[in-house]
Amino acid sequence: MKKKDDGLNTSEELRLFLEQDLTGDFISTVEGKLITCNKAYLKILGFKSIEKAINFDLIKLYPSPEEHSKIIELLKKNKYLNSYEYQMITCDGNPVYIIANLHGEFDNSGKLIRIRGYLYDNTDREKALDDNKKLARAVEQSPAITIITDPLGNIEYVNSKFTELTGYSKEEVTGKNPRILKSGKTSGEEYKNLWETILSGKQWEGELLNRKKDGTLYWASARITQIENSKNEISHFLALQRDITDQKNAEQIQRVILNISSAANTSYSLEELIENIRKEIGKFIDVSNFYVALYQKDNDTISLAYHSDKQNIKKFPQGNTLIRHIIKTQKPFWGTWKDIIELEKQGAIKFYGEKVEAWIGVPLKVKEETIGAFAIHSHNDKNAFNKEDLDLLDFISNKISQAIERKKNEELLREALEKAQESDRLKSAFLAAMSHELRTPLNAIIGFSDILSKDSSASVKYQEYGKIIQASGYHLLDIIESIFDITRIETGNTKVNKSLFNIDELINKLSNEIQSWREKQRKAHIKFTIKLSDKDFHFPIYTDYEKLYKILINLIKNAFKFTKDGNIEVGYIQQQLDKSMFIEFYVKDTGIGISKEKQEIIFDVFRQVDDSHTREYEGTGAGLSIAKNLVVMLGGNIWVESETGIGSTFYFNIPLEQQKIKTKRNGEKNNTTRTIYFPGKTILIAEDEDSNYQLLKLLISSSQATVLWAKNGKEAVNMCVKSPDIDLVLMDIKMPQMNGFEATRRIKEKCPGIRIIAQTAYTSYDDHEKAKKAGCDGYIEKPIQKGKLFELLTEFLNN
Ligand code: ADP
Repeated sequence: MKKKDDGLNTSEELRLFLEQDLTGDFISTVEGKLITCNKAYLKILGFKSIEKAINFDLIKLYPSPEEHSKIIELLKKNKYLNSYEYQMITCDGNPVYIIANLHGEFDNSGKLIRIRGYLYDNTDREKALDDNKKLARAVEQSPAITIITDPLGNIEYVNSKFTELTGYSKEEVTGKNPRILKSGKTSGEEYKNLWETILSGKQWEGELLNRKKDGTLYWASARITQIENSKNEISHFLALQRDITDQKNAEQIQRVILNISSAANTSYSLEELIENIRKEIGKFIDVSNFYVALYQKDNDTISLAYHSDKQNIKKFPQGNTLIRHIIKTQKPFWGTWKDIIELEKQGAIKFYGEKVEAWIGVPLKVKEETIGAFAIHSHNDKNAFNKEDLDLLDFISNKISQAIERKKNEELLREALEKAQESDRLKSAFLAAMSHELRTPLNAIIGFSDILSKDSSASVKYQEYGKIIQASGYHLLDIIESIFDITRIETGNTKVNKSLFNIDELINKLSNEIQSWREKQRKAHIKFTIKLSDKDFHFPIYTDYEKLYKILINLIKNAFKFTKDGNIEVGYIQQQLDKSMFIEFYVKDTGIGISKEKQEIIFDVFRQVDDSHTREYEGTGAGLSIAKNLVVMLGGNIWVESETGIGSTFYFNIPLEQQKIKTKRNGEKNNTTRTIYFPGKTILIAEDEDSNYQLLKLLISSSQATVLWAKNGKEAVNMCVKSPDIDLVLMDIKMPQMNGFEATRRIKEKCPGIRIIAQTAYTSYDDHEKAKKAGCDGYIEKPIQKGKLFELLTEFLNN
C-alpha cells in the first residue's frame, strides 16, 4: 500500500519486483486500456492471462462507467488518490473490494493520459464487516429479548424487542443494571443460583417473573451466559429472554380449571365448593367482593348461594338487578360505574347497594341453560378488571357451572336421602311403638284366655272359647312379629350380635316352644324328631343366637303348617365349602310339597304358593323371606328341595367360626329343672298396665312367692331401696316417669344383689342388648309364657 512512484518503472529489476508484489500493480490508459500489470493484478481481477487483460475494456471492471469517470475526475484534480476505497467487479462478474493508491500521468500540456495504480484486495475484511452488520441486524430484529452487559452487569446493549416488551428505551437502560426489571417475586435463592451458574462458566436457564416499565408483570424464559475474550476473561454477559406470559397464563388457567373440577369432588357442600372456586379465581383477580347467585327456572327466582361478605347474604335484593340482567341476557358484562348508570337509564336494570367502581359478571350455563351467575366488583378501583379478565372468567365459567350443578344435585340427593332415612327412622319408630301397643292388649288377651281355658270352674264350652281366643291371639302376635321383622330388615335396622353358645341350649328352647305350640295348633299327632347325636348335641357354635333361633322356628312352624300327617325332622351336619367350615341345618317334612316353579318365589316377601293355602294353613307370606334375610345376614345360604305330595326339605348353612369356637366360654350351663315353688321369696312387678300386672300376679302367686307392685320405674327404685326383702324384679321397659332401663341401672347401683328380669314388649333385637347393658340378668318377651317365666325364676331365685 505504501508504494511510491519512484520513476523506476522501466528497469528489469523493478519489473521483477513488481511481478512478485502482492499488490496488483498496473498501468492503463485513461480510456481504460491496460498497458501492463503484474500477476497479482491479474489474480485480483480474475484474468487468466495478461493478453486477456490487455484486450479487456477496463471500464467494465467498475460497477458502472460513472464510477470509472469519478476516479478520472478525481485524478485530474488531485493527481493521485491514496488509500482510495471502491468496489470493482472481476472479469467473471464477482464483486471485489479494493483499497488503491492511484497516480495520474499527465503530458506536457497537463492532460491526464495514463493511470498507474497499486490495488489491495480488501474483499475478506469487507465481507467480515458485512457479516457483522448482518448479525447485528439479526440480533436487533430478533424476537428474543437480548441484553448484553459488561462484566459489572451494566447494560451495554438491548434490542428492539426489549424496548417493545418492557417499555424501556435503549437510552433509558444503557449503563443501568438489569435488576430494574426485578419484580420482587423471584426468590433470592433463585438469583443466587443464577449467579453461581454463570460465574462458573455455565449457561443458566430458568423462568423469571419480571416487571415492565408500566408496572405490569411478565414471565420470561431466560438463558444467560458469559462471553469471554481471547484472554479467557469475562468480557460480557449475554441474556436472551422469551416472553412466556401467555403460556404461563394458559398453564395457570388449566390448573385453575383442574382445581375447580377436583374441588367438585372434594368439597362437602355447595358453599365449600364456591369458596374453593373463589380461591382459585383469586389467583389472578382480586376477589374480595365475590358472589354467586343461582337461578330457579321453575319459579323464576334468584337466590344468593354465596357472598364473600357474609353480611350481604341477607341483604341480597330481588328484582331487576344487574345479576338478573346477566342471567336473562346470558351474556357476560364488564363495566365501570358509568356503564352501570347507562344500563339503569335504559331501564335494563335497577342497581341496589353501594356504588361500585368496576363490576364484572359472568353467566353460569349448563347445556345452554342458565343456572345462575357469578360477579366480582371493586368499590375503589375502576381499572380493577379488564377485557382479558372477562374473557378468562367467561372461559372458565363452563367448568364452574358444571361443578356447581354437580354439587347442587349432590346436595339435593343428600337431602332426599336424609329425608328418606328420616322417614325410615320414623317408620321404624312407629312400628316399634305400634308393636308395643298391639302387644300390650295381646298380653292380656293371651294370658287371660289361657287362664280361662284352664279354669275348672268354667264350663267346657267357655274353656274351649278360651283356647280359641288364645290361639287367635298367638296368631295375631305372629303376624305382628313378621311384619315388624320384615320392616326392620328392609330398613337395615337389624344388626348381627354374635355370641358363643352350645347348640343344645338352642335345641332345648326350640323343642320346648314347638311342643307347646303344636299342641295348640292341634298338630301333636305329627312326629317331631331332632336328629342329633350326643356329640353333636353339645356342639359349640359362634353366631347370632336370636337369628338362628328365628330361622329354625320359622322353618319348623311352616313344616307343621303344611303337613297333615307323618313326621318332621330337624338336624344338621358340618361341612367344608371352599376351605371354610359350614354348619348345614335341615328341616324335613312329609307335607304337601312345593312345585318346582313355586320354589322360585317362596322366598320373596309376601309371596305364597297360592291364596287358597293361606285360608287353609294361615300365614302372611313373610316367614321364608325373613328366614332368607337372616341367613344371608349370618353369611349363609338357604334353599329348598321339594316334591308335591311327598314333602319338602328346607336347608340353610352358616359359617362356622372355628377360632371363636375353640375359645369356648366356660360356666354356661343348661338349666331345665323346673321348680315352681319359691316360698319366702319376694318378687317386685314393675308394670304400668294393670292387666299385665294382674296376669303376672296370677301366674306367680301359685309359687308361694310374695308379689309387690310398682307402677313406674321411679316407684320400683324406691321400693327396692326401702325394702330389703325384694329378691327379684320383673321389670317392664316402657313405663311412665322412668323407663325400665334407667330403673334397672339405678337399682343395680344401689342394690346389686337384686336380680332383674326385663319384660320386653318390642320385638327389637336391640332391646335385649340394651337390657343387658342396663344390668338386667335376663329378659322375657311379652306376651309372657308361663313356662319361660318359671324357667327364669328358677334360675335366678334358686341360685
Ligand atoms: P306363610 O307361611 O306365612 O304363608 P312363608 O314365607 O313362610 O309364608 O312361606 C311362603 C309360602 O311357601 C307358603 O305360603 C307356602 O305356600 C310355601 N311353604 C313354605 N314352607 C312350606 C312347607 N314346609 N311345605 C310346603 N309349602 C311351604
